[in-house]
Amino acid sequence: MTTIAFIGLGVMGGPMAANLVNAGFTVVGYNRSPEKVERFVAAGGRGAGSVVEAVAEADIVITMLPDSPDVQEVVLGDDGVLAGAAPGTVLVDMSTIRPDVARELAAAGAERGVRVLDAPVSGGEQGAVDATLSVMVGGDEATFDEVRPVLDALGTTVVHVGPAGSGQTVKAANQLIVAGTLELVAEALVFLDAHGVDRERAVTVLGGGLAGSAVLDRKAPAMLGRDFAPGFRVDLHHKDLGIVTAAAREAGVVIPAGALVAQLMASLRAQGHGSLDHTALLLLVEQLSGRGPS
Ligand code: NAD
Repeated sequence: MTTIAFIGLGVMGGPMAANLVNAGFTVVGYNRSPEKVERFVAAGGRGAGSVVEAVAEADIVITMLPDSPDVQEVVLGDDGVLAGAAPGTVLVDMSTIRPDVARELAAAGAERGVRVLDAPVSGGEQGAVDATLSVMVGGDEATFDEVRPVLDALGTTVVHVGPAGSGQTVKAANQLIVAGTLELVAEALVFLDAHGVDRERAVTVLGGGLAGSAVLDRKAPAMLGRDFAPGFRVDLHHKDLGIVTAAAREAGVVIPAGALVAQLMASLRAQGHGSLDHTALLLLVEQLSGRGPS
């Protein structure tokens, strides 16, 4: 019987932890805001009052937290995962964080006999709810094989991509593609509207051709419905584009389109839209064109 500690029960972590319960694992959940722990207990999980309490009996610890400093605090802090987990435990960090921080966690874990994988995900809230996430995993391959049944309960595309940190590098590339595509979908919708075209029909036919993508299929309807409830917050995508641009610079790689969309996301955030879904890029394109909602 595998016992899993799940830390971070937000938009993604909440449904992911619930799916692990449904798959038959014993799951102990912890979140900084207690109402999310209560919601998880109502979904059939066990609740914990601290990180140390959550990880005490765990074979596997999963973290799903917003950003690198959050994961560093929860894993490396005095009352953190490494302080409380028994040697032999596997820590799977599924948050999207900096690749260098993922490597730092792996090294710190190794010193305490805790094996660490970086396993960020793509597929959004719906993918978390439906257990259809893509999971990109960095770290030791034998450890990956060991925890694979747990990851298979969360996603349908689960791939080991290389050593520690490489899962985060692949996720950074994912966020580059998603942000760029999202921006172009927003521009296309404003362009189509300016020409008086029926945008729903346009999206249908575009989706069947080379312009088709998961971003177009899932995000264009949200833009057309002007439903900007997250989903994936602008704040989080801003964080991810910071990771991409820093990692590209570090490697001496030039990503002009990525850098531009990073600036557009930063502008959206600076205008107070950090808590909206990243589909709110549409608002910025409308603003740049001097056009209001249609
Ligand atoms: P979220 O803000 O909804 O959830 C994060 C949770 O962590 C919150 O419930 C928060 O209370 C909790 N938390 C923060 N600090 C904590 C601490 N110190 N101790 C315990 N709990 C703490 O964010 P999310 O959308 O679930 O995203 C989580 C991660 O997954 C991020 O790195 C994000 O980039 C990534 N991600 C999100 C999506 C998406 O569509 N939302 C998709 C793929 C990846």
